[in-house]
Amino acid sequence: MGRKIYDAVALGEYLIDFVPDGLSASGEPLLERNPGGAPVNVLAALAKLGNKTAFIGKVGQDPFGEYLRDVLIRQGIADEGLVSSRDAHTTMAFVHLDERGERSFHFARQPGADALLTEAEVRPELTRGTRLFHFGSISLTSEPSRQATLHAVEAARQAGAIISYDPNWRPSLWETDELGLVWMKSGLEQAHIVKVSDEELALLTGGQPDAGTPDLAAGAEALVLRYGLDVLLVTRGAAGTYYRTARYAGEVAASRVVPVDTTGAGDAFMGAFLHRVLGSETKPADWSEEELRSAVAFANAGGALATTRKGAIHSLGTLEEIEALLGGTR
Ligand code: ADP
Repeated sequence: MGRKIYDAVALGEYLIDFVPDGLSASGEPLLERNPGGAPVNVLAALAKLGNKTAFIGKVGQDPFGEYLRDVLIRQGIADEGLVSSRDAHTTMAFVHLDERGERSFHFARQPGADALLTEAEVRPELTRGTRLFHFGSISLTSEPSRQATLHAVEAARQAGAIISYDPNWRPSLWETDELGLVWMKSGLEQAHIVKVSDEELALLTGGQPDAGTPDLAAGAEALVLRYGLDVLLVTRGAAGTYYRTARYAGEVAASRVVPVDTTGAGDAFMGAFLHRVLGSETKPADWSEEELRSAVAFANAGGALATTRKGAIHSLGTLEEIEALLGGTR
């Protein structure tokens, strides 16, 4: 295997999130323009920790698309894999907050440019030239981006990359719940490292969107064994993280912080965990439980820090901040 150009490449949705931010003089909600899309958030966390990264995705030929390309460049993420579509507008998501502060998403994506990425637009030098490849489930919701994603994952895996997968459940983006589940599970077949929430674990093991919470340990074990995963991480907000490998299972408590905005905490967590993976001489499957717990604690600190500031990309912590937070909790 030749030398790799990139530490990490990610593929997936990249869009504008419109997030409520107070009221105008006439009492209407003001919406703040934010870069959105979990795969880029993960890359931004990795880039901030000093890794060489590149993104594969599609935006529209419009001011939002130009802005999103600019964000990549400012984060130090290589943008040569970002394609501009003439056929569709940059995808937009509108965030609504209910009375309890719970977020829901409404997508302007019929289609949005992100879903129009084709297999031919995925540059082989990016999929073959990376040590680690990360993806999610939003690019699996429809064609042609589904085929582009599966092709890219396969190419990266064949070239020896570690494959990392973060399936997100956004019911409104799938034709039916059943199809959504089938494709979300298809990503598990290819992955070495997988991160899910409690609810996503329930979904992937129970087979129903409303399956309820299964026994965490049993569900995690079932997923690891069924798909031959190296590491499964179940993130649980302030309750910390449950980990499961073929050999080990356990929990690492969350870092103690005062959260302001939890947007992107999971992505900051994942970026920090993958930073440890990239920094290790051995594959996570061969780690001791101590190494694994140390990486999860580092990731928890990265996730926690991201909750102490507003936004996703803008709230990421530096290596020094993560280490300072870790030092304080030990
Ligand atoms: P997501 O953003 O995907 O919903 P979580 O909310 O579970 O993910 O957060 C990911 C990780 O970030 C958690 O496992 C935890 O380590 C950290 N984290 C999230 N919320 C908090 C919090 N309120 N206090 C401390 N750590 C947190």
